[in-house]
Amino acid sequence: MIRMPVEKIIEKLKDASGVSEEEIRGRIRAKLDELAGLISEEGAAHIIANDLGIKLFDQTTGRLKITNILAGMRAVEMVGKVQTIYPVKEFTRKDGATGKVASLWVADDTASMRVTLWGDQTDNVSSVKEGDTVKVVGAYVKDNNGRAELHLNDKSELIVNPEGEEVGEVKTQAVKAAVTRTKIVDLSEGMSRVELLATIVQTFDVRFFEMCPDCKKRVRQRGEDSFVCDEHGTVKPYYSYVLNAFLDDGSDAIRAVFWANQVQSLLGKEDEAVQGMREDSEKLEELKQSVLGKIVKVGGAVKKNQMFDRLEFNVFEIDANPDPIKEMEAMGVSKQEVPSIMELEGESNE
Ligand SMILES: [Zn+2]
Repeated sequence: MIRMPVEKIIEKLKDASGVSEEEIRGRIRAKLDELAGLISEEGAAHIIANDLGIKLFDQTTGRLKITNILAGMRAVEMVGKVQTIYPVKEFTRKDGATGKVASLWVADDTASMRVTLWGDQTDNVSSVKEGDTVKVVGAYVKDNNGRAELHLNDKSELIVNPEGEEVGEVKTQAVKAAVTRTKIVDLSEGMSRVELLATIVQTFDVRFFEMCPDCKKRVRQRGEDSFVCDEHGTVKPYYSYVLNAFLDDGSDAIRAVFWANQVQSLLGKEDEAVQGMREDSEKLEELKQSVLGKIVKVGGAVKKNQMFDRLEFNVFEIDANPDPIKEMEAMGVSKQEVPSIMELEGESNE
């Protein structure tokens, strides 16, 4: 499946339909509310695109500009200029063998992205210098926390300074990054795709609610064991759930809303296991305690809770075990300043 970040979808829809950005965001929010917890913001944006009769992308393979490269694409060709080289690192694969990985940060005139090389492809990296032009052929695209990354396997090709290829002025900053890292104190109503790195300082009860298995909408209770869907009449509902928690990043704290998928990631449990806790408040309590103090990386949107007149963070994606080194890099700390994992782990154990 090809994934287009929400911000990009909104931009496309705005350009292609003439509908205002505000209106498009409003429709996406309405769709999310309607399908509470069942689809992502991205999913909702796709539905709106469909409603408007707009095709989000037509070329999914072959030669592409970086801005048009999306996670899920295959056989992609791209030409760009090398901005940064991340040298070869060895790691132990699941089967015990030693694997190799290296990457390049590459820019063209539209955007920049990471190009990751695996296995023998990493041998090519030794001949690459910053500022070189590289041509990538036959690569595939993976999603890494909302960003598209180009990957090369044994069948792909990396050509250094290819003849007849010229890259002019490049755009070194990632185009309107899929998610923007923000401090909680800087959050404001309507921000739709921001990322926080914060600690869970308080958790509230997991709330379960009944959903229609056919249309995935909320059902109304009529009698003790009878549930009615407006469309499907009496149904045997399934349960979706939501968990509220306070996130604190040192700048401020905010109440965050985790829907079913995110609850599973946060608790490290499958849906079935969470469902099983519906009647087992003790188990649930235990689990809620276990995530206190946990550092998480969450992507989501800031919403105003009208009833309580406060801002809330609606979580759409979560990394329950963020990699400390990557986080330092994301915060703009240079490689030399990044402490070893050992040091970081020592710190977090105190
Ligand atoms: Zn229904």
